[in-house]
Amino acid sequence: MSDTSPPDTPFPPELLRDVERRRTFGIISHPDAGKTTLTEKLLLFGGAIQLAGTVKARKSARHATSDWMEVEKQRGISVTSSVMQFDYAGHTINLLDTPGHQDFSEDTYRVLTAVDAAVMVIDAAKGVEAQTIKLLEVCRLRNTPIITFVNKMDREVRETFDLLQEIEEVLKIDCAPITWPIGMGKTFRGVYHLLEDRVLRFAAGEEKRSEAEVIKGIANAQLDELFPLEVEKLREEVELIQGASHPFSLGDFLAGKQTPVFFGSGINNFGVQEILQALLDWAPPPQPRDGGTRLVMPAEAPFSGFVFKIQANMDPKHRDRIAFFRICSGRYSSGMKVKHVRMGREMKLANALTFMANERVLMEDGVAGDIIGIHNHGQLHIGDTLTEGENLGYKGIPYFSPEMFSAARLRDPLKAKQLQKGLQELGEEGAIQVFEQEGGNMLLGAVGQLQFEVVAQRLKDEYKVDAIFESAEIHTARWLTFPDDLTRRNFEREQGMRLGKDVDGNPVYLATSRYNLEVTREKWPKVGFHATREHG
Ligand code: GDP
Repeated sequence: MSDTSPPDTPFPPELLRDVERRRTFGIISHPDAGKTTLTEKLLLFGGAIQLAGTVKARKSARHATSDWMEVEKQRGISVTSSVMQFDYAGHTINLLDTPGHQDFSEDTYRVLTAVDAAVMVIDAAKGVEAQTIKLLEVCRLRNTPIITFVNKMDREVRETFDLLQEIEEVLKIDCAPITWPIGMGKTFRGVYHLLEDRVLRFAAGEEKRSEAEVIKGIANAQLDELFPLEVEKLREEVELIQGASHPFSLGDFLAGKQTPVFFGSGINNFGVQEILQALLDWAPPPQPRDGGTRLVMPAEAPFSGFVFKIQANMDPKHRDRIAFFRICSGRYSSGMKVKHVRMGREMKLANALTFMANERVLMEDGVAGDIIGIHNHGQLHIGDTLTEGENLGYKGIPYFSPEMFSAARLRDPLKAKQLQKGLQELGEEGAIQVFEQEGGNMLLGAVGQLQFEVVAQRLKDEYKVDAIFESAEIHTARWLTFPDDLTRRNFEREQGMRLGKDVDGNPVYLATSRYNLEVTREKWPKVGFHATREHG
């Protein structure tokens, strides 16, 4: 870090120390691979929760506490992401949970802009699945370092070499196995740690054990006694990978080119501690971030950061909105004054929340890497920067072109104003994308169908508007950029029918079909058509 710091502005040593202790990461996986289970076990090892029940029990218990919305209750899924902070081995770890349901991938993408590393969970029987591919693409946008956990080794699963090859080929990332499984399913014996030359013995069970039983050395005769049927294969495979696979390289990992791979069984607590250790040893502390005008160092004294997610009514009893804010530099203290850069005015930060294992507690102290929850009444949008020092504008929170479109129609036409207000606010919040067409028509765009249902419910609950959504004949949306004003005006004149504006006023082309998009693009080669747009 000292290489990149301006020499004449030494960082406050305490701040630097606290930043170096932070690890902020998210878990990515296809639904059902075992993300919830791993989250729970990580919290258990981290001492954040005392006793882990079975996942099932926890999932239903969680309904009572954090599944705050009707839709969530009805569907039994968690629509929202949450943040959990815990201390482990002298470090402060922030785990950002991402919604598993594929309809909410947009939210997941945004959460991933706030992490410094990710743990990728792969179901060893299924290998690389659709959501894994999408999420990894997002991680790649920022070269986020990835630690891989191949889960469910206690089941009948695929050959290890096969799995690694699939990860490398499909996800285009080199694999550096750190542990190697011995057997699988009923004969899963444990893993051999390639860097430490020791076998960690598997024992089924849900309780937290501090350490797995260790057998030192791959040549150890104890292994022949314990696993006479598996040990030969293990030795052969280990010889093979030591010759053929990528040795672990911290540099390649940090550059997002290589992933260290661990094998285990989340539900049996096996392999979980190694993941935590890898996070401490290898995952990066908060990194410098592009503040728009310059790179901002995490241990710089002035406080700064950005909003990556907005959540309304987390607690139905308090109809509040919470902005999830990633600190990128400086130190949070309650009562501090910051500048809201987009609005150009001062704002007092008090009573920010931190999130500990699904309970909200008041935040006392936060540094880069930490996530704070800021109560607000709509002043904060996704992508907003708050800062104590000069004006900055953090980059990189993407909007993705929606894949489904609906037009909102009112049952009661007198409620048009409320509908407009509701949609504008929900659009700003990022619950759904809203495009205003010529003549004031409001068009909604979503990545998944469930988003429409959530919005309909929230319009009813929060804005007292009963709206029906009718599917619109739109295939896709593209954000537009023009080389000059004349081209813009000509384009607007010709394509007015197909134009809209997003909640921040950016021009968007609403294509009726892929063909329509292609034809228009060909006709207007100088106009930029973009499938994503950054907030801010
Ligand atoms: P998520 O959808 O990715 O959050 O997955 P969950 O953590 O809810 O797990 C999906 C299912 O896989 C649940 O029934 C878990 O009990 C099960 N599961 C998770 N980890 C393991 C494991 O290591 N072995 C086995 N056999 N099942 C597991």
